[in-house]
Amino acid sequence: MERHDLLDHIGRTPLVPLRRVARDFPVPVLVKCEHMNPGGSVKDRLAKAIVDDAEARGVLRPGATLIEATAGNTGMGLALLAAARGYSLVCVMPEKMSVDKRVALSAVGARVVVTPNAPPASPDNFRNVARRMAEESGWFLTDQFRNPANVRVHEETTGAEILEQTGGRVGAFVAGAGTGGTISGVGRKLKSAIARVRIVLADPVGSGLADWVETGRIGPDGTYAVEGIGGSDAPENLHRGVIDAAERVSDEESFAMVKRLVREEGLLVGGSSGTNVVAALRVAARGDVDGPVVTVLPDAWDRYRAKPWMQEWTA
Ligand code: PMP
Repeated sequence: MERHDLLDHIGRTPLVPLRRVARDFPVPVLVKCEHMNPGGSVKDRLAKAIVDDAEARGVLRPGATLIEATAGNTGMGLALLAAARGYSLVCVMPEKMSVDKRVALSAVGARVVVTPNAPPASPDNFRNVARRMAEESGWFLTDQFRNPANVRVHEETTGAEILEQTGGRVGAFVAGAGTGGTISGVGRKLKSAIARVRIVLADPVGSGLADWVETGRIGPDGTYAVEGIGGSDAPENLHRGVIDAAERVSDEESFAMVKRLVREEGLLVGGSSGTNVVAALRVAARGDVDGPVVTVLPDAWDRYRAKPWMQEWTA
């Protein structure tokens, strides 16, 4: 029997219909279960792609230290790679991100550096701290916000899988953007294959990215509790040219939808999955798309247990 190691089981995630939450909608709503990746999120794909790419280019020496600015999920993906290939890992996370993610990353042996929730221009912003530490210590910055391997892996794997799993019939693809890798890569792949497909950004109320999609200018900087998506600047890996429209989703709508996904569909997912599904349902309800609406469930619910929005469910 041919044996694959754990890293070979990243990707090829199930694509399933929302049977209850999207019942009686004009078109089916299909969700790609990225929370079922070995590290519990969509970010396993880019962690493997970035490390494979760096090894192939000869820029990663054995025993090197990887460093990344992460909402937590990329850190967990990189931890799987670090374990399998003998690297050390440093994760720089903003304070906002859940304690569960911080504990999980420390537990897998990463060094976790917590920064204030500072805007992109501040030297204390998590991306600036990670860049500075990489330069000072000679560590390898995996650089998910800029590394082209991020968009490429979503084009070649996530996007290609969606085409295969739908038989090439997709009316719209909906996703939030953290680095932009998912929506840019999948969007590019689907647009190369399906003439009428619409690519829609799901954006938290309080993020400036929806305004940027619509007008080219970043919207006002607000606060919101959903983790891993939205922002107050547009990362290099978010390609505006591939996106047709944006849907704004409030924290309340996102978290209420996560509860429905868990209780009605058995999908054990995190906050940004709620954002994506709320936006996908809006697009599907309008009935003006040519085929199913597809979205992604980026991560699993276990990293949000300590968050007030999930604690409330048990009250
Ligand atoms: N949801 C969560 C929970 C995430 O951590 C991320 C990545 N930061 C995303 C969605 C967005 O994915 P991408 O970086 O590909 O835009």
